[in-house]
Amino acid sequence: MIPYGKQDISEQDIQAVVDILRSECLTQGPAVPAFENEITRYCKVKHAVAVNSATSALHIACLALGVGKGDIVWTSPITFVASANCALYCGAIVDFVDIDPRTYNMSVESLTEKLVQAKKIGSLPKVVIPVHLCGQSCDMAKIYTLSKQYGFKVIEDASHSIGGKYLNEPIGNCRFSDITVFSFHPVKIITTGEGGMAVTNSLLLAKKMQLLRSHGITRDKDEMTHPPDGPWYYQQIDLGYNYRMTDIQAALGLSQMHRLDEFVKKRNILAKQYNQLLLDLPVVIPWQQDDCYSGMHLYVIRLKLGQINKTHCQIFEGMRSAGIGVNLHYIPIYQQPYFERLGYNGKNYPNANFYYSEAISLPIFPALTQQEQITVIETLQIELKS
Ligand SMILES: *Cc1c(COP(=O)(O)O)cnc(C)c1O
Repeated sequence: MIPYGKQDISEQDIQAVVDILRSECLTQGPAVPAFENEITRYCKVKHAVAVNSATSALHIACLALGVGKGDIVWTSPITFVASANCALYCGAIVDFVDIDPRTYNMSVESLTEKLVQAKKIGSLPKVVIPVHLCGQSCDMAKIYTLSKQYGFKVIEDASHSIGGKYLNEPIGNCRFSDITVFSFHPVKIITTGEGGMAVTNSLLLAKKMQLLRSHGITRDKDEMTHPPDGPWYYQQIDLGYNYRMTDIQAALGLSQMHRLDEFVKKRNILAKQYNQLLLDLPVVIPWQQDDCYSGMHLYVIRLKLGQINKTHCQIFEGMRSAGIGVNLHYIPIYQQPYFERLGYNGKNYPNANFYYSEAISLPIFPALTQQEQITVIETLQIELKS
């Protein structure tokens, strides 16, 4: 089976992990700050807080922005469930903004309309979480303008898009957001096994997130309620978690950073080749905005079902049976039983529903060969025609 995505581990990556295993510190050593520094340098952002997953990063990002009981958080319905769950962890209410039919990112038009309505009834969101689906940035300049107009904070879920650019600047520079979150799960662009990072230009937010990732405990005497009792002393000043990244993970991440540009370049070359190979087939290829350089985590096509004698499901099953590990990113979150039980439904999300009825993710990862790519397209061709 050709998978839809997979990690790319070099001998150098393996050596970096082995070096940590032979060193003093498996966790809370120097590798985590080294990885954080490299991310801040690369993303042109001031602070980075490494954690054990993007899910944890989203959680502490919401908490640092003060999301709590009764607050409202908006995100896209076409994303991984973690983008919405972070708000629920904080006791907040989550709601969804329909997607743009071309980019599949949160639609700025829908967001604007929803804000106008919400203002009328006094239910504006505290935080909006745009997700850079497939690696392509959302329209952050416009979302930023709306955030100032309506007074909400912004967390970018950039789990798909490290190494990408928006307006020629690295995604993660937080020019148009308060916090940006990355994921280092093995299917993502670079990996630490499991892992995530929250980046921000605010020292205050960075400090809050550092506290929250490690039990709410501080060793900084300026943050304590009274002078330390002695050299052993620390204080728990908030309720935090153990969301720390290990040095083993950070060393892998730091080593992977050396090849980040190469990975993203390769993904973009593969995407261009797919675009060419798909030209004459009844599918819609991914739309790319001029002001974006996508991380190209996913390559999503939509089937033109009107021109095909099969269903979406039949094509999908056909591809899987032929050894092509296609996938579907994502099932609209409001269709998940947990969310249905909370009362969510899809009636206000026509674009998300339509997308879900046609989308298929084709395999894309740096080591995908041209021959494998041709096999993917030939298989699709057979499936579409038969
Ligand atoms: C993968 C992913 C996450 C969660 O990342 P983890 O590191 O696995 O917790 C969150 N949001 C999006 C959009 C993702 O793709």
